[in-house]
Amino acid sequence: MLSKITKICDVYGIPYKREYNLGKNSYSRTGTKLRIAIFPLSREQLLNLHRSFIYEDIDYKVLGNTTNVLFLDSQIYKCFVFTTMLTDYELYKNSVIVDCGRSVTEFVRDLSMHSITGFEGLEGIPGTIGGALNMNAGAYGYCITDNLIDVDFIDSDTNVRRIAKSDLTILNRSIPQLKDKIILSAKFNLVEGVHSRIEKLTRKFHISRHQYQEWVYPNLGSIYIVPSLNINQDLRKIHTKQNIAIMVLYWLLFKIWFTRPLFVIRRLFPSFNFPFRLLKFLKIKSYNSEVASKTTVNTFANKNYSTLELLEYFVQLHKDSNGMIKLENEIYIENIDTVLDPDMRARQLKLASKLSRSKL
Ligand SMILES: Cc1cc2nc3c(=O)[nH]c(=O)nc-3n(C[C@H](O)[C@H](O)[C@H](O)COP(=O)(O)OP(=O)(O)OC[C@H]3O[C@@H](n4cnc5c(N)ncnc54)[C@H](O)[C@@H]3O)c2cc1C
Repeated sequence: MLSKITKICDVYGIPYKREYNLGKNSYSRTGTKLRIAIFPLSREQLLNLHRSFIYEDIDYKVLGNTTNVLFLDSQIYKCFVFTTMLTDYELYKNSVIVDCGRSVTEFVRDLSMHSITGFEGLEGIPGTIGGALNMNAGAYGYCITDNLIDVDFIDSDTNVRRIAKSDLTILNRSIPQLKDKIILSAKFNLVEGVHSRIEKLTRKFHISRHQYQEWVYPNLGSIYIVPSLNINQDLRKIHTKQNIAIMVLYWLLFKIWFTRPLFVIRRLFPSFNFPFRLLKFLKIKSYNSEVASKTTVNTFANKNYSTLELLEYFVQLHKDSNGMIKLENEIYIENIDTVLDPDMRARQLKLASKLSRSKL
């Protein structure tokens, strides 16, 4: 199988790397090995590769920057195609066409340079345009689809098709029509804004991200999609609803802790998460798992954990929320080349299947 793949890559001049180390190179530093990682340099190369793989019946997974995917360390994967070299974009008078592999953060910068507004809240999302469209990424009230005009993708018949935004069902963190399609590029509408306002907004979101996100350890951002913006608040509601007094007290302290004047204190003691400690102190629920990021329980901080430990944490959070949260991170269990540890894999799959059963 591997020689077939390398032959196809050689025919089209597509770079690849064999025995790619996922544990060192995936964004969350999860997984072990991948037999072959392929890096097409253009949309045409990606299309040719896909057609050849379909023809030869070669199973592969397309990935962007791996910022939403948890890999298993109990198996060696076969073949991933990374889009991260497809970074071109073309600006027109009122629109832009951007390739699927361009980083969302870089794209926001590209647009800021040209005084384009409407993308500011996407600053800091570490994925690619293709990955962002795959799960309708968004933040701070902004969504990747806000200014979308249409998307070019490879259909199941291996033809390139264009779908207009009006034909897409845009849901919270998903677009069903784009599921399992390979996104090649997207076209966005451009609206001119005022430099100073774009800068002000982008700085605000950047600072906010730095404050509330895990920056020390590898992670995958939010593990769960939660009903409101902050899982700390959602879990607080779940665990305090039996006792109105505690609920009100916690709400007050939470509000105070996250007020602007206390920003300095939070910065001085970055590992001290007051709402977190309070839950523990009041014995309402102790989120004292070492796996949790100090900034939010909805993110793991990978301190060289096994995938099993991370999945156990996923399950703990799921239970603690009474199943009222839905997995945002993707646990990738397919594309197996070799199972390294069958028992471990079985345990990981069991946990993963629990997580797919959500009440939402
Ligand atoms: C620190 C951090 C902060 C984050 N903040 C946010 C946030 O604020 N808001 C938010 O929504 N998300 C956030 N995320 C999650 C993640 O960045 C987004 O989901 C991102 O859009 C994923 O892009 P990616 O290129 O990394 O995709 P990957 O993780 O590589 O892939 C994710 C899925 O998309 C598919 N995919 C990737 N490229 C393509 C393509 N070209 N065609 C078809 N399918 C494709 C893959 O097959 C996979 O199923 C954050 C993650 C981290 C680590």
